[in-house]
Amino acid sequence: MLWARADEVALLPAEASIAAGQTGAVQPGEALAQLPPALLAAAAQLQPAQQQHGLTLQFRQGQRFRNRGKCCLRWFQPRARAQGGQAIGLCFQYRQQRGAIGFGKKPASIAQLQPPGAVDAAAAHRLHRRQLQPLLRQPARHHLLLHGHSRRARCQHAGMLSRCDVAVVGGGVAGLTAAALLAAEGLQVELLEAHSQTGGCAGTFRRGPYTFDVGATQVAGFEPGGIHQRLFRHFGLPLPQATPLDPGCSVQLAGDAAPIALWRDPAHWQQERQRQFPGSERFWQLCAWLHQSNWAFAGRDPVLPPRSLWDLRQLLGAVGPASLASGVLLGATVADLLSLCGCGGDQRLWRFLNLQLKLYSQEPADRTAALYGATVLAMAQAPLGLWHLQGSMQRLSTALEQALAQAGGRLRLRHRLQRLKPVGSGWKLEGVVAGQRPFVLEAEQVLSTLPPQLLLDLLGESLPQSYRQRIDAFPDPSGALVLYGAVPRVCLPSHLGLHAQLEWGDPGNLFVSISAEGDGRAPAGQATVIASVFTAARPWFGLPEPAYQERKQQALAGIQAGLQQLLGLRPEQFLHVELATPRGFAGWTGRPFGFVGGLGQHPSRFGPFGLASRTPLSGLWLCGDAIYPGEGTAGVSLSAFTACRQLLAANGRALQLRA
Ligand SMILES: Cc1cc2nc3c(=O)[nH]c(=O)nc-3n(C[C@H](O)[C@H](O)[C@H](O)COP(=O)(O)OP(=O)(O)OC[C@H]3O[C@@H](n4cnc5c(N)ncnc54)[C@H](O)[C@@H]3O)c2cc1C
Repeated sequence: MLWARADEVALLPAEASIAAGQTGAVQPGEALAQLPPALLAAAAQLQPAQQQHGLTLQFRQGQRFRNRGKCCLRWFQPRARAQGGQAIGLCFQYRQQRGAIGFGKKPASIAQLQPPGAVDAAAAHRLHRRQLQPLLRQPARHHLLLHGHSRRARCQHAGMLSRCDVAVVGGGVAGLTAAALLAAEGLQVELLEAHSQTGGCAGTFRRGPYTFDVGATQVAGFEPGGIHQRLFRHFGLPLPQATPLDPGCSVQLAGDAAPIALWRDPAHWQQERQRQFPGSERFWQLCAWLHQSNWAFAGRDPVLPPRSLWDLRQLLGAVGPASLASGVLLGATVADLLSLCGCGGDQRLWRFLNLQLKLYSQEPADRTAALYGATVLAMAQAPLGLWHLQGSMQRLSTALEQALAQAGGRLRLRHRLQRLKPVGSGWKLEGVVAGQRPFVLEAEQVLSTLPPQLLLDLLGESLPQSYRQRIDAFPDPSGALVLYGAVPRVCLPSHLGLHAQLEWGDPGNLFVSISAEGDGRAPAGQATVIASVFTAARPWFGLPEPAYQERKQQALAGIQAGLQQLLGLRPEQFLHVELATPRGFAGWTGRPFGFVGGLGQHPSRFGPFGLASRTPLSGLWLCGDAIYPGEGTAGVSLSAFTACRQLLAANGRALQLRA
């Protein structure tokens, strides 16, 4: 949110197009007329620290936001006084039932808007009745927010972050995407992130000369028409630099001499799978057909599961003949597809599928929804594909931060939300800044990207009982053990590519990611090696410290033994090594028990049977990896886009990504 001094400048053109976040101010008494672009540009540079006392003005693009009847006029004074400050101005907030918010074409004089001295309720009422109500009947495009309070009042407000249209909670890829999308629509957005950096499970950390990706190491959705590509085109920003992975992954089954390579070229992959799994082509062809139908369906932006008429319309609009046919398999698992195609007895194929599906859906073949499984099994091939980001995974979050800042949204790092309360027609968010100082934020709407299990504590009694029970009944998602290592590059084999899987016993199957030479993660001649294992999370908590350390050492030794098997790496060759357990993930991401990966794509929780982004509480929305279509940076971005569309549609607006 940008502010400018009201006693210097400001004009309110009803017709001119003012970009979100731009500000200006008016001469007291000056009629609201044309706003010179140069002035807007200068005002947009002002920082909050440069604010002076006096009236401040904020212009935002006209928008229908919340149905509040005709309009509301709020005095700023009472709240400022309650905070121990001195108010010298007033705040007008105009909200119209339909369409735009704000003043109409008729100019209003700022002198009439600014009561002399103390706020005079009767004067405000007259102003409201005579001047502003008639304006509200006209179509208007812009929103004028007048704020005035003294510097002292503002300082004493320190814990009060003010109001906003939408508070987005969680600065991972889902939250950044949602906040940037909403801010680009002209909404006043505050993004609260508990950590000192954004990215969450797709963030990075540094150790000496090494940069480690915390969780996600490969991205989908960078191809033309992919969700990340669509979003960055919408924001008018370049996609972070990335290279397609070929193979997307090399899968090493225990006891096999050579790995199975998931080649990017579909024909090459077909040859590979025919060689590796003779007699399984019908299964792969069925998966390919289901995937194509899923992809066409997903490309028409459905809303799943539908919870309103609008949602249902989006869903029905996305259904085509192919998705109707594939819908027959909604309740089926990947194992059912194997049986249907007569390859249910192919144990080697089962083992391969279990490895891949547990990585992407948290479930093995006999528990992964067929429609979900068919798509993740096709992710590595063109025209889709998996990508390796240059620099680090953090580049994606940094680019989204840029989109948010460019749209005038505000990112608040180190702001941990602790309590979420419905208040009147909006929400009150309470939490702590940097672990100590309390903050309060009021928002019309809240979009939470946190795991739904956290809502139980955040909302307390405000959460309807049936919804609480539903969330309580979800099975525990997985936790992760992740080894972050660095080795001389000469110690690594060259035949595997950058990503590999190993069927391994203790502590579990490994997913390994190796940095590329010159990709910014390790000095020349060295490489980072990240090996992750999905594991039950709860047993890592509540252990006495010595038992925890012992368990951690065992896990580390088990993963290093796996890396020796897969890459020939001996423990003494590591230049750096450390292990994160679910405890570490709980601390880094704020996720309960360090749960990662959403809810698992069992048919009972997939698509129409999943958790909806529309909650039973008005003005509270969800997105992230527990919401359709599920985990992964591409999945959570899509869920963020859908939740934003729903939020805006509920307020009479459409969100379409720019082509
Ligand atoms: C080991 C591992 C490997 C993975 N590999 C891949 C991969 O290769 N490719 C891929 O696409 N995906 C991968 N994923 C999944 C992917 O990282 C996630 O699905 C995705 O990043 C989740 O994004 P999100 O924004 O929904 O949640 P998060 O990334 O968890 O973001 C939530 C944010 O909310 C913040 N937060 C938490 N509590 C609070 C609070 N109370 N107040 C304010 N802020 C709060 C957190 O600090 C965090 O930044 C992997 C995940 C893991 C753990």
